Amino acid sequence: MTQKRATWQKTAVFDALNQEPVFVSAQELHQKLIGAEKKLGLTTVYRALTELVEAGQADALAGEDGEMRYRICSDEHHHHLICRECGTAEEFDLDGFEAEVSQLAAKFGFSKVSHSIELFGICKKCGMSA
Ligand SMILES: [Zn+2]
Ligand SMILES: [Zn+2]
Ligand SMILES: [Zn+2]
Repeated sequence: MTQKRATWQKTAVFDALNQEPVFVSAQELHQKLIGAEKKLGLTTVYRALTELVEAGQADALAGEDGEMRYRICSDEHHHHLICRECGTAEEFDLDGFEAEVSQLAAKFGFSKVSHSIELFGICKKCGMSA
């Protein structure tokens, strides 16, 4: 039986994620929820995160270690510049690039084209403490 539960668990996961300024993994978020006396299983956290991403409420990206990390970002289309040390992320857009992508897609007769560009590096703060 697959029952859709838009429950307090999902709300708790959303609220916890909303408080994170940086990209966090499901495990990290799970630890925070446990610390905040929210009794959620890791599987539930994963499921809630997946649903938030599917609903467009959260962004997900795979880090260089292959682990998925999540954040609630702005609604606008954007790309990420992520610190591989602490998960800090800057949002940016590439105006010229977006236009070129549309032209390229049109040229080859493609529609509904999507793209994602993530840049990884070391943020200023982590660079200084190294
Ligand atoms: Zn984002
Ligand atoms: Zn950093
Ligand atoms: Zn773009």
